[in-house]
Amino acid sequence: TELRELAEPRVFDHFDYVTLDDGERPLLALLEHLQGRRGRSRLVRTFVRDPDTGQVRYINLAEPDVPFAQVGTPTWDGLPLDRYLSVLDMLNPMHRLWSDGRWNKLTVAHGCYWKKCSFCDVSLDYIGRYDGAAAGLLVDRIEAIIAETGQTGFHFVDEAAPPKALRALAEELLRRGVAISWWGNIRFEKSFSPELCQLLADSGCIAVSGGLEVASDRLLQLMKKGVSVEQVARVTHAFTAAGVLVHAYLMYGFPTQTVHDTVDALEYVRQLFEAGCIQSGFFHRFACTVHSPVGRNPEEFGVTLVALPEITFAKNDVGFIDPTGVDHDRLGKALNKALYNYMHGIGLDTDVRAWFEDKVPRPRVARHFIARALGA
Ligand code: SF4
Repeated sequence: TELRELAEPRVFDHFDYVTLDDGERPLLALLEHLQGRRGRSRLVRTFVRDPDTGQVRYINLAEPDVPFAQVGTPTWDGLPLDRYLSVLDMLNPMHRLWSDGRWNKLTVAHGCYWKKCSFCDVSLDYIGRYDGAAAGLLVDRIEAIIAETGQTGFHFVDEAAPPKALRALAEELLRRGVAISWWGNIRFEKSFSPELCQLLADSGCIAVSGGLEVASDRLLQLMKKGVSVEQVARVTHAFTAAGVLVHAYLMYGFPTQTVHDTVDALEYVRQLFEAGCIQSGFFHRFACTVHSPVGRNPEEFGVTLVALPEITFAKNDVGFIDPTGVDHDRLGKALNKALYNYMHGIGLDTDVRAWFEDKVPRPRVARHFIARALGA
């Protein structure tokens, strides 16, 4: 992601090659090259240092990537899996799942089926190239991994696992009687009906995480998230009712986000905790990346980018000027403090304005917005 414009020759004092994106095709080409069966000019997505000029060259013979259905099953053969270090870095239920204990990692598909969110690296292969596989093949992989590792916990590391594929996977797991525990990222989209959430739970789903981002319908539309706060309330509630832990990725500092938007967003989050829709969350500060729609077309989002100095190594985040001029760092402290308390069931009946150090406006959100969305 960050080395796409790599031009620093000293990197190659330590590395022979740097390849981009999925590894299978570039590595197969590289192996053939090292065996003398392929010329250097026929490498795939590979940076090398030219021995004559000493300069970095990017070589990319266009060859199709290995389809997701053909990449094979991951293997951990020979690794001491019983010696994994369990780490509790934060008192947050989802972070605990990430780092406390070991999970077999697998993806349900390659890339994201939605690929529209304006803060996301949708122009890159790992998001933008969606490619799936039949449920039968995925369960074959799952069974092979269980046989090899003796472990039945799975973390599906998709950026956003597609609901259709999850349904087919759940049905196939149940049909074969394969008992696993699994969790992963999704989008809180309306196809996750109460019936589907229950089916996923029956197939071993214990937790899901998804982006609520800035809880504001105006900003969700601007970021092309394709969900509304009401819909997130209904979907997260359906998962919780099925006994699945729900973690929300939350964001602040998105272009044009005002202080008032931030107060409103916290009020929505408070109500979502109060209504038992989500149990865990984390506020991320929005970062503008060069591969995201915001970084590529900043004017559409009302911001101007700060010119980057000439870069020869890593290039990813880019500064921007937002005319709203809000001090998001200061607001972020309040958001994190409130969220930390909500995760412990504390302060849910406190006026959200009390978490902020400065005087902030009263939320514009109806006091029972989420309860009403749930039909209570
Ligand atoms: S943020 Fe998630 S849902 Fe949106 S495009 Fe990126 S991977 Fe897909």
